Amino acid sequence: MLIINDDHRRRAGVCSLDELCPYCGSAFAFYPLVMSDDASQTVYHVACALELATDLLVDLYTFFSPPAPYARLFTLTAPAPTLHSEGGSDAINRS
Ligand SMILES: [Zn+2]
Repeated sequence: MLIINDDHRRRAGVCSLDELCPYCGSAFAFYPLVMSDDASQTVYHVACALELATDLLVDLYTFFSPPAPYARLFTLTAPAPTLHSEGGSDAINRS
């Protein structure tokens, strides 16, 4: 959620612009701010939220698609359905 004024800030649980951003440790000082939509609803500077999101995207991208010569650590696959011996091709063991 974008925070652009004192009313938004108070409803986000930030008492003043003197509170510190949990990402960079600097005072919020000015608008706009961003509140995450996770359970803790943390408030960040917009630039800090973008940096955090970018770091997460880069980490996830390189984890799932590492640069050469590294290979993927794993590949997600769905288990092949197994045919039940008494049910022919209609019975699939879902255990
Ligand atoms: Zn910050």
